[in-house]
Amino acid sequence: MKRAAFFLACLLGLALSGLRAQAKIYVVTTDPTLADLARSVGGDRVRVESLSRGTDDPHQVEPRPSMVVKVSRAQVFARIGMDLDMWADSILEKAGNRSVMRGGRGYADCSLGIKPLEVPTTKLDPSMGDIHVYGNPHYLLDPANGIIAAGNIAAALIRVDPANREYYVQRHQAFGRDLLNALNRWRGMLAPYRGAQVVVYHRSWAYFMARFGLTELGSIEPKPGIPPSPGHVNDLVRAMRSAGVRVMLMENFRARRFPDMIEKQTGARAVFVPGAVDAEPGVDSYIRLFDVIVSRLSAAFK
Ligand SMILES: [Zn+2]
Repeated sequence: MKRAAFFLACLLGLALSGLRAQAKIYVVTTDPTLADLARSVGGDRVRVESLSRGTDDPHQVEPRPSMVVKVSRAQVFARIGMDLDMWADSILEKAGNRSVMRGGRGYADCSLGIKPLEVPTTKLDPSMGDIHVYGNPHYLLDPANGIIAAGNIAAALIRVDPANREYYVQRHQAFGRDLLNALNRWRGMLAPYRGAQVVVYHRSWAYFMARFGLTELGSIEPKPGIPPSPGHVNDLVRAMRSAGVRVMLMENFRARRFPDMIEKQTGARAVFVPGAVDAEPGVDSYIRLFDVIVSRLSAAFK
């Protein structure tokens, strides 16, 4: 009888260790675009959740208790960094999960290795406006930067789950190949409009425009994070008329009031696009995100 019980206990132990071996790595990201990158790299070895939604302003997300619970259980925590998702700091602190805090093996700052644009030459005080204190943090809107961000997630997965290193490395390489192929297609679609001047709402599009050879004439916000004033909008309208700007580019969560007004005054088209994965139905992957942005933008130029 004793021997049978011992045997059963051994079987149970084996079954449990088997379950542990198959358990998926729990990845929490600040943003749904990073969540998609984590799924691309992690495949069936990961379970991924994003704290924010695609329709959120990535600068302004309201921390909630449910987010603390998620981070406290996370094995990998991936963030955009450069202070874009600064709101996540209080969540990390409350969760107190050392392995996913800065310096922990499951912590992935996806901006590592990104070449930052618009780095201020003097120290900025965010209370005076301009929330891009460490340079422009919207680097995920250049598809090539998605490969670097995904690489940072892959590195964290390898630190946490070294047994599957080869799996993550191969998936990251395959993701990079697919993305570069798609990038060639997008460049072809936007090639006829190289050098065109575009107006944005918030300066989220610096990396996108640099990649595709577009230039930013101005932004509806006078500075990142500062709401438009009538005087600023009047100046912008004048500049747009004299430069013959035909297109304004902005994320779909931006208020319509000023874009609509400027559209009436200049004839330029306001193009609302998803700024992140999951920001619109059907925008369910990083590649699909740029498919939608590029096709909507090129249609507006025509
Ligand atoms: Zn911004």
